Amino acid sequence: MSDTENRPTNFIRNIIDEDLASGKHSKVQTRFPPEPNGFLHIGHAKSICLNFGIAQDYQGLCNLRFDDTNPEKEDIDYVHAIQKDVSWLGYEWAGDIHYSSDYFDQLHGYAVELIEKGLAYVCFLNADETREYRGTLNKPGKNSPYRDTSPQENLDLFAKMKNGEFEEGICALRAKIDMSSSFMCLRDPIIYRVRFAHHHQTGDKWCIYPMYDFTHCLSDAIEGITHSICTLEFQDNRRLYDWVIENVSVPATPRQYEFSRLNLEYTLMSKRKLNTLVEEKLVDGWNDPRMPTIAAFRRRGYTPGSLREFSKRIGVTKMDNTIEMSVLEACIREDLNDNAPRAMAVLDPIKLVIENYPADKSEELTVKNHPSDDEQGTRIVPFSKELYIEAEDFKEEANKKYKRLVLGKAVRLRGAYVVTATGCDKDEDGNVTTVYCSYDDQTLGKNPTDGTKPKGVIHWVDAAKSLDATVRLYDRLFTVPNPAAESDFKEVINPESLVVINHAKVEPALAQAKPELAYQFERQGYFCLDNDIQEQGALVFNRTVGLRDTWAKISA
Ligand code: ATP
Ligand code: MG
Repeated sequence: MSDTENRPTNFIRNIIDEDLASGKHSKVQTRFPPEPNGFLHIGHAKSICLNFGIAQDYQGLCNLRFDDTNPEKEDIDYVHAIQKDVSWLGYEWAGDIHYSSDYFDQLHGYAVELIEKGLAYVCFLNADETREYRGTLNKPGKNSPYRDTSPQENLDLFAKMKNGEFEEGICALRAKIDMSSSFMCLRDPIIYRVRFAHHHQTGDKWCIYPMYDFTHCLSDAIEGITHSICTLEFQDNRRLYDWVIENVSVPATPRQYEFSRLNLEYTLMSKRKLNTLVEEKLVDGWNDPRMPTIAAFRRRGYTPGSLREFSKRIGVTKMDNTIEMSVLEACIREDLNDNAPRAMAVLDPIKLVIENYPADKSEELTVKNHPSDDEQGTRIVPFSKELYIEAEDFKEEANKKYKRLVLGKAVRLRGAYVVTATGCDKDEDGNVTTVYCSYDDQTLGKNPTDGTKPKGVIHWVDAAKSLDATVRLYDRLFTVPNPAAESDFKEVINPESLVVINHAKVEPALAQAKPELAYQFERQGYFCLDNDIQEQGALVFNRTVGLRDTWAKISA
C-alpha cells in the first residue's frame, strides 16, 4: 500500500472518502473495463492508475473486466496484450480475469425480467425508421408501433431472436423508457441485437448480444463494484445506467462517476484510428515506438513508474484539456536521469588517432555507471590508439562557444585522458574522416599539470573493440498538436518521426544490454535495446527520449 501522504487527491477520492465515512460502503471495489478491440494506449493508463490506484490506497479491490460485447471487432490477442500491459504497469487485478461475456446468461435473464415487467419490447423498425422515430435533440421522438406488444408476445419474440429465427437487422430488443426524454440515450435504447458472430469467449453459443449500456452497469452490479469510474462521454448514459440498475433485481447498486479523458498533444487517442495506422502499415504494428500505446512506450524504454507518475501529475478532473508532450517526457527523463546506467555510443563516427599512444597498447579503464549513484558500480571501457568520436564533436576552427575538439585545442575524453587535436584527413567532399591528436598520459582522472583545464568533455568508443549498432531516433508521429482535428490524420504524419542510423558504434559493455532497460548514452539521450529484434544478436537501440526538452522550442 502506498504512503498516505503521497496519495493523490481528486474529486473521485473525495467521494470515496465520504462514502466510507458515512458507512454507505465499507470497502471499495473498482474495475478497469477495456474492450479487447485494440492495444491499450496512454489514456487507458490514466484510467488503470486511477482505478487500481484507488483500490491499492483504500485496501480495496480492482477487477480487470473485458467488456466484450462486440464479437466482430474483438480478438483474443488483444485480451492477452491488455493483461500484459496492466501487469507491466505494476497492478494486480482481484481474482480471475472477468469478461462481460461471463454474464451473458444472467444478462439474458435480466432482459427477460424487463420484458416480463413490460419494460422492454422487440421492435421491428428498420434502421432508417428507428432513426426517424428517435427524433433529434430539438425534437422529441415518436413511440414505435411495436411498443405496446404484450409481455407474453415479446417473450416469444425474444426467444425467437435467441434461437436464431431472425436475421441480423430485422429486429432488436429495446428498453421501454421515454421517447420524449431530453436524454437521447433514454429514448427506448436498444439493449439486445442479433449478430451471427463467433465470440472469442463464448464461441457460437449466442446469436444475440447485449449492448454496452445494458451490459456494463449490470456487470458492475454482478461484480459488486462500488464506484464505476469512466470518461465524460458517458455522462448522459449515466441516466440509462441508473435506469437499468433500478429496474431489474440486481445484487448491488453501483454508481457511475465520470472524469475527463486524457488527450496528449501530437498523438491520437482512439483505438479505431490507431488501428487504421496499424492496418494501413503506416507504423510498424501496435507496439511501434511512435505509437501512444503502453506496449510502444515499453518497447521504447519508458518505465512503468514513469507512466504512473505521469498519471499522478496530470490529475483527475472533469475539465477537458490536452496535455503537452513535455509533461510526459519530463516524467521519464527524471526517472532515467536518476536510474539509467550510463554508456557511450557514437552515432556518427569519425576516427580519432592518438599519435603518441603506443600501437600495441590497450587499457581497460574503469568508469562509473552512474555519476551520483555509486551503487550502480563501475564497468570496464577499453581504450587504445584508435577511437571513434562523433563527427560533430570536431572542428578545424571554432569560436569559444564550441566546447569540443578543435585543432590545437584540448578536450577531455569522458572517463579517460585529455587530448589535443593536431590534424585531420578529409574525403573529396571535404568531410573530416580522421582526426589526429596527442594525449597527455598524466591526465587520467586528473587535470593537466601545466594548469590548463580543457573546456569540454566528449564521448568516444574504442575503434577495435566497439560494437556495430543500429540506432532508431524517434520523434512525434504527427506534425500538428491535434491530429484528430484534421480531416485526414494520415496527411499529417511526420515523415521524420523515425530516423534510422545504421552505422553507430557502441562500447562493448552494451552487448549485455537487455530489452526495455534504458541507458543514458552520454550526451545523446536515453536509449534501450529493442524488444522486437528480427536478426539474432543484432544491437538495435530505440531512443526513449532526448536529454533535454526540445518541445518548448517547437511550440515557441
Ligand atoms: P478508445 O476511444 O481509444 O477506443 P474506449 O473508451 O473505447 O477508448 P475502452 O476499452 O472502452 O476504450 O476503455 C476502457 C476504459 O478506459 C474505459 O473506462 C474508458 O473510459 C477509459 N479510457 C479510454 N480512453 C481514455 C482516455 N483517453 N483517458 C482516460 N481514460 C480512458
Ligand atoms: Mg469504449
